Amino acid sequence: FQAEDGIRDAQESRGLGDVYKRQVKRKGILIILDGLGDRPIEELGGKTALEYANTPNMDKLATMGILGQQDPIAPGKPAGSDTAHLAIFGYDPYQTYRGRGFFEALGVGLDLDEDDLAFRVNFATIENGIITDRRAGRISTEEAHELAKAIQENVKLPVEFIFVGATGHRAVLVLKGMASGYKVGENDPHVEGKPPHEFEYGDEESKKVVEILEEFVEKAHKVLEHHQINEKRKKEGKPVANYLLIRGAGTYPNIPMKFTKQWKVKAAAVVATALVKGVARAIGFDVYTPEGATGEYNTDAMAKAKAVVELLKDYDFIFLHFKPTDAAGHDNNPKKKVEMVERADEMIGYIVESIDLENTVIAITGDHSTPCEVKNHSGDPVPLLIVGGGVRADYTESFGERECMRGGIGRVRGKYIVPIIMDLMGRTEKFGA
Ligand code: ZN
Ligand code: ZN
Repeated sequence: FQAEDGIRDAQESRGLGDVYKRQVKRKGILIILDGLGDRPIEELGGKTALEYANTPNMDKLATMGILGQQDPIAPGKPAGSDTAHLAIFGYDPYQTYRGRGFFEALGVGLDLDEDDLAFRVNFATIENGIITDRRAGRISTEEAHELAKAIQENVKLPVEFIFVGATGHRAVLVLKGMASGYKVGENDPHVEGKPPHEFEYGDEESKKVVEILEEFVEKAHKVLEHHQINEKRKKEGKPVANYLLIRGAGTYPNIPMKFTKQWKVKAAAVVATALVKGVARAIGFDVYTPEGATGEYNTDAMAKAKAVVELLKDYDFIFLHFKPTDAAGHDNNPKKKVEMVERADEMIGYIVESIDLENTVIAITGDHSTPCEVKNHSGDPVPLLIVGGGVRADYTESFGERECMRGGIGRVRGKYIVPIIMDLMGRTEKFGA
């Protein structure tokens, strides 16, 4: 069908005398493997996970396409997943971004008001006042949802609130009508073996929010402490989810124009992770989460691949997000990262086999690097691969950090990725005569 579309577009526009309209229109797929980039890892013989992994599909695409390095925000600047995605979709995160919590809340499907204040929350483990596990042993989505429900039902606060589970150990808190108190800090110490951080605040409005948050954390702790899920986890020797780490206060983002309107494309996102779903929703994508796609290590990558192929029949542009590569970096688990990269490669292989590549442009990259040695995001550039109709192939032979250094794209800012794809898709407008 895409081949026909491509030919039809070319035929229909012939004779119109408009150079722009005579271009063949291609479809586009942007694949983001979260936290893809890494640094040399001793355990992998000095290779990165992407270099070490067996990735026949991406390597083949590298030979057919062009490689490069991209800096999501700027060289040396570690980017969050939200700001990195905004930047890659062409938005200036410094102008647009008003905190993570709002995207998390959009991502779990909440419809929020302009004056709501949203936070991202981790279920965590506390023992004798010390945070011993910031992710409560990465409890399951089902467990988190049930615990969140118990909190929503049993905690009473002086303001209206919404508390719901997201994916894995993540949850979302919304304080209705409290947006003016957005200048609040967090209680997440960001390292294990320390007590929770004291919430900080920037003004009187935020001080009120902090008081509410402190009350919420304490009341939630009481609900969680003896919840049957935790009693069961205790018996099984697993870390209990008995504490809430709250961070990422966010209010409505400042999106000047939706991606779909700016590029005049019908766009869909295949995403499981709430935060990234929220970004996609905020910029106008229709968001799909196929059954089995969890955003965790157990995610069903093939279900995502099939969804992409199906959606490409109706949409011009598909964004596919794959999360667990990032988790493996955070967990400093190189072998796991290799395994996740290989899983992503199979997913990509299925997509490429099922579409007409000549009438499609595919870009594969990460939203940032999450090196195992850092256990967090770093400012290292991220590998980038672009392949499909019209692409001037370079001489690279495999997809990896160092091979990308000699690729034809060179080194670009994240914000140029979409324009490069759109130009190959025939959807950019000429500047000048
Ligand atoms: Zn990320
Ligand atoms: Zn991350």
